[in-house]
Amino acid sequence: MDASDLGSDLDHVLLSEEQILGRLAEMAAQVEADYAGRDLLLVGVLKGAVMVMADLSRAFTRSIDMDWMAISSYGSGTKSSGVLRILKDLDGDIAGRNVLLCEDVLDSGLTLSWLLRNLSSRGPASVELLTLLRKPDAIKVEVHPKYVGFDIPNEFVVGYGLDFAQQYRNLRCVGTLAPHVYGG
Ligand code: IMP
Ligand code: MG
Repeated sequence: MDASDLGSDLDHVLLSEEQILGRLAEMAAQVEADYAGRDLLLVGVLKGAVMVMADLSRAFTRSIDMDWMAISSYGSGTKSSGVLRILKDLDGDIAGRNVLLCEDVLDSGLTLSWLLRNLSSRGPASVELLTLLRKPDAIKVEVHPKYVGFDIPNEFVVGYGLDFAQQYRNLRCVGTLAPHVYGG
């Protein structure tokens, strides 16, 4: 789905598909260099990180493992609920592995600081964080991603995996919604 398919639901495009794919290719090259000669497991956070995982992983020139977790952080609205629980755990053991957690967006950091603590407690060789987007609020919490795709303004965005009420994940770009979509 493209921006033009959304008509008046979309307010503006923040990042085009070309910008996103170009940046992910750069990040993949950086990750590959940093983990040269070492085992690497990409962990994606469902559902938002599906697109990031798909395009990042395919930009690698080596084979890597992928695993997935699902946690609840947001309800159907645009504000963090602060309530976290594991809906789907990793399939595999990460003891001794080099884990790169991949996320769509680092917002308050509530979700990711919790998740990083959770993963670190399982005895991995290393745990680092890659996020496609980072919002300014992220500096308020102790989450330090090793790889950041884009710093974006403090706006609610959809597309490229990011949803509003489970919709718009399949939009190719990242954009903001028009106020009427929120019922405003
Ligand atoms: P945090 O715990 O506040 O860092 O929020 C992280 C999660 O909130 C992300 O993985 C998303 O699921 C969701 N989220 C945060 N900001 C946005 C946004 O702008 N659009 C859609 N989802 C968002
Ligand atoms: Mg998410």
